Amino acid sequence: MGIISENVYSVLAELPRGVELVAAAKTRTPKEINEAIDAGLSTIGENYIQEAEAARATIGAIVNWHFIGSLQNNKVKKAVRLFDLIETVDSVALARAIGNEGLAQGKIMPVFIEINSGREPQKTGVMPENAQDIVRQISDIKGVKILGLMTMGPRTGNPEEARPYFVETRKIFEQLQKLDIARVEMKYLSMGMTNSYKIAIEEGANMIRLGSRIFGHRT
Ligand SMILES: *Cc1c(COP(=O)(O)O)cnc(C)c1O
Repeated sequence: MGIISENVYSVLAELPRGVELVAAAKTRTPKEINEAIDAGLSTIGENYIQEAEAARATIGAIVNWHFIGSLQNNKVKKAVRLFDLIETVDSVALARAIGNEGLAQGKIMPVFIEINSGREPQKTGVMPENAQDIVRQISDIKGVKILGLMTMGPRTGNPEEARPYFVETRKIFEQLQKLDIARVEMKYLSMGMTNSYKIAIEEGANMIRLGSRIFGHRT
């Protein structure tokens, strides 16, 4: 058995019920991704449209494809065509572009709103204090449907340092659930990567995104 399948088996065995796994597949070949799928993985996350096009052409619709990178306006059309869910919507303008493309392609595009939980100026994502307002505005856009929140959090050496950012994002998630905004389904909270997923799960993540834990270190 290959190392990728072993990794998938051991992660799936350790995940609590109700936590979904997204394999972050940037820089990985379709062969590596296929090994993970054969071992039971059902959702692939891609950061780059070109890579996703190539992988999807080989692998097809047997898994769910999530876009987890930063989406440029000129790539929206392809993203809507290639992906089942876009995790990284961080502006009303981007949501509008996705919605228009969704309508053109006869599809209601499921999205997550990305939260900049570290309030890092150079990073993508909506500032926590603007989340509610932006979710309300996007909820009115036809052709997109909000299904949850995603956050990266600042890069930290010690995973424990990521905890407050996960806590803050979960609070926003719960507030939005309570508000019960029309056409918004606050179902998924996507947070936690290889070094931080255990803490993210402790703090309420029901979707984690793992790259190196599954495929090994990126070279
Ligand atoms: C690469 C990536 C991950 C996974 O990172 P690892 O540390 O390899 O687990 C998760 N989310 C996003 C958005 C990524 O780009």
